[in-house]
Amino acid sequence: MKELITVIVPCYNEEESLPLFYEEIIKVADKMSKQVDFEFILVNDGSKDKTLEISKNLSKKDKRVKYVSFSRNFGKEAGMLAGLEYAKGDYIAIMDADLQDPPSMLPEMYNIIKKEGYDCVGTRRVTRKGEPPIRSFFARCFYKIINKMSKVEMVDGARDYRLMTRQMVNSIISMKEYNRYSKGLFSFVGYDTKWLEYENIERVAGETKWSFWKLFKYAIEGIVAFSTVPLSISAILGIIMCLVAFIAIIVIIIKTLMFGDPVGGWPSMVCIILFVSGIQLFCMGIIGQYLAKTYLETKKRPVYIVKETNQDKIE
Ligand code: UDP
Ligand code: MG
Repeated sequence: MKELITVIVPCYNEEESLPLFYEEIIKVADKMSKQVDFEFILVNDGSKDKTLEISKNLSKKDKRVKYVSFSRNFGKEAGMLAGLEYAKGDYIAIMDADLQDPPSMLPEMYNIIKKEGYDCVGTRRVTRKGEPPIRSFFARCFYKIINKMSKVEMVDGARDYRLMTRQMVNSIISMKEYNRYSKGLFSFVGYDTKWLEYENIERVAGETKWSFWKLFKYAIEGIVAFSTVPLSISAILGIIMCLVAFIAIIVIIIKTLMFGDPVGGWPSMVCIILFVSGIQLFCMGIIGQYLAKTYLETKKRPVYIVKETNQDKIE
């Protein structure tokens, strides 16, 4: 029997891109049809446009197309997890609907896994062409910071576009955490990954769902999910402040003994109080972030809720 490749496509308001995407992906599927069969899982992440309708029509026309539709928007992370859980393939690919992840790379990725013995082929963009410069700058900073803080390696410019073996996917879905940060999870499970590089491509239609603020929150999520270094920062800051205070006390005692105690220094006092209470609040905020994540984790809420689908899930 031929092997099966599942292509997972998280879709949120992609009515314009989806038909274009389908055209491209079946070209690739036809090209590879001698070697492998295909299955496409379109995960409709609570779209407000005709994405679900289009998915259903495609699935009527083409039996390889499956759809999984959420009851509301749960985010791309949830979409990817649903895709992975519903996938039946021996190899599983994740691809965006906007053709920023070129389907034409798939044959090469498949060959690498088959012939070179890798478990996973990931892609990373080497340029950030077409992206606002400030965003690129902050993205670079983020990767520098998180790689210093976390033992799990995050590759700069890595996309979610990748082809994985069944074994690796099983390891990923065995991690049941609620706060999912896929870039970290993919790297956490280990396995041999080969990185293919390509130049950034702009989306074919529609617009990106990521605002700067959303990306910023996502970055914080990544740090909180894969590093506890910020928690130690508060302890270290505390120690430093104590040392500074200790030195200041000695200096003041000596100064008072030598020069008496003229009243003064109120402005500096106010500054110190503001500074120290600022640090305290900052540290409490860090602890709060971890507490909030732990709180959500203990509720054990589902990551996504499926309203309708034409694919049965394997348990
Ligand atoms: N997406 C999703 N749920 C969301 C936001 C995005 O499923 O809440 C999908 C979207 O339809 C697309 C992919 O995730 O297929 C990547 O989104 P986008 O192109 O907006 O991100 P970018 O490529 O700009 O990082
Ligand atoms: Mg995109």
